[in-house]
Formats: sequence, C-alpha cells, structure tokens
Amino acid sequence: MSDYAVFGHPIAHSLSPRIHALFGLQSGIPLNYAAIDAPPGALAASLAKFAADGGRGANITLPLKQDAFALSAELSDFARRAGAVNTLSWRDDGSWRGDNTDGTGLTRDLTERHQLDLRERRSLLLGAGGAARAAAHALLDAGIGELVIVNRSPERADALMDSIGNPARVRTRYWADLANCGNFSLVVNATSAGIAREKLALPFNIVAPRALCYDLSYGTAAFGFLAWARAARAGRALDGLGMLIEQAAESFQIWHGVRPQTDPVYAELRSELPLLASD
Ligand code: NDP
Repeated sequence: MSDYAVFGHPIAHSLSPRIHALFGLQSGIPLNYAAIDAPPGALAASLAKFAADGGRGANITLPLKQDAFALSAELSDFARRAGAVNTLSWRDDGSWRGDNTDGTGLTRDLTERHQLDLRERRSLLLGAGGAARAAAHALLDAGIGELVIVNRSPERADALMDSIGNPARVRTRYWADLANCGNFSLVVNATSAGIAREKLALPFNIVAPRALCYDLSYGTAAFGFLAWARAARAGRALDGLGMLIEQAAESFQIWHGVRPQTDPVYAELRSELPLLASD
C-alpha cells in the first residue's frame, strides 16, 4: 500500500518514484511512492482502488492526463486552462483535486536552471497532447512571441489553438508545411515519438541562429531530436530531465507543503543520463 504513486502506461521506467524518494529523504518526510500501470480506460478504477487503500496523492503521466482532468472534482486555474492534470490530491470530501505542474516545471527549468530568456521568442511547439497543452500555456505566460503549433493529427493542434483563444499570438500549421514556416528561436518537442523510437521528419531551416531546442523527453528517447537540433546548428539543445524534476518538486510542495531543493537531484540523475547535445 502506498500513499503516493505515479499512474501511466507504460510506467515501469518512470523516474518519479526515485525523485520523490530523494525529495522525501532531503526534507525528512517519510513517504511511500509507487508506480502503477493503468492502461487507457482503467484510470478511474485504479484511482478508486488506490484511494480506498489509503492513497493521498497521484502523479499522472502519458497518456492519461486528459482522463485525470475529467476525473477531477476541483481544478487549479492552470489545469483548467491546460485541459490536462498531472497531479491529483485526495480531498476530505472523497474526491480528487487536479493540478498541473508541467507548465511551471518547464519554465522553471528553462529560466531558472538554464538562465534563458524566453521573451519574444518566435516559438514552434511540436505535439498537442497533455504535455503540449501545459507547455503552450506556460510558454505564452512566460512572454514568448508568436506560437506555432504543429501536430501529427492536425485537428488536435487546431483544438489546442482554439482552447487557448489568442489568435493574435497562436496559430497552427500542417507538419508537411514546416519547411515554409520561417525559422524559430525556440523549438519544443512535446511529442512522444522518441519514447516510441519513431523519427520525426523535421527540416533544418526552421532553426534560427542561436535557437533553443528543447525535448520534453529525456534519456535515449530524446537522442533523435537532440541530434537533429545539433545538426541544425541550434545554440542550445536540452532534454526534459530538468522539467521532470521541477514538476515533481511542485507536486511535492502541493502534497507536503515543502518545496525541495532540485539542484542536487538534477545533478545526481544527470550524471546517470548524459545529455547528447550541448547543455
Ligand atoms: P500524449 O500521449 O498526450 O501526446 C503525445 C503527442 O505526441 C501527440 O501530440 C501525438 O500526436 C504525438 N506523437 C506521438 N507519436 C508521434 C510521431 N511518431 N510523430 C509525431 N507525433 C507523434 O503524451 P504527453 O503529452 O503526456 O507526453 C508527450 C511527451 O512529453 C512524452 O515523451 C513524455 O514523456 C514527455 N513529458 C515529459 C515531461 C517532463 O517533465 N519532462 C512531462 C510530461 C511529458 P497525435 O495527436 O497525432 O497522436
């Protein structure tokens, strides 16, 4: 029985149990954090059993964030805007509150750990799933310039654009038209192609001189995108390990009221997951 857990599918290789264990040790908060496999359609039943067994907090990962949104009785403002939930907290009335810490995790990693200025960057977002939704809102909140969203299934990119409701700053394009979209000073890969070992077809001319390319994936799943970014002569090419640790710290704070220090955890995990491209 665990008080906390991450739910996803697949989930066996998740780093979240290890990150939360390190945060618990650092903060002197004993906790029991598991990884639970929940195939699409099974999240509601899995969460109900988890809560009945004493579960008090859950992280939600691929591909279940929009399901978790639908299961939340109460939502944070950011989760409502993103339409996706990655952090659930059990309430005294027997229901879940949904938060989304992915957006803050991304911008904290970029602006605080890597000291990057996002303002006015013409930006390309690849993907329109749960993580992309959070990334889009967080990047716009952080002051990027125009945001172009491209997704394999174009109707999901259009749905994300419509839900943001800011036609002056946000537009969509077809993947096949990417070579004709001009260049970008920020390119964010929020697809799960790397996890599926699938290659993204990306032209080099979308990368502006000194551009920042960021893959939300980490480890070997990010290697293909980071190799492409380096070949396209991006100024920086970063993976999503820092975002993973920052979003976990935000969840930890929601549940335990303490924000752990993330740099020691980043250093420990980074030494095991070398970055392929420039950091
Ligand atoms: P979802 O399943 O919700 O969305 C997946 C997205 O990837 C969709 O836009 C999908 O397109 C697209 N996609 C999948 N395969 C391909 C492909 N072969 N070519 C092009 N597009 C593809 O996943 P999430 O949004 O939850 O996660 C996306 C990625 O972000 C994952 O790699 C995940 O690990 C990472 N992530 C990292 C975090 C971190 O803290 N570092 C936090 C959250 C996520 P379509 O709509 O057409 O299916």
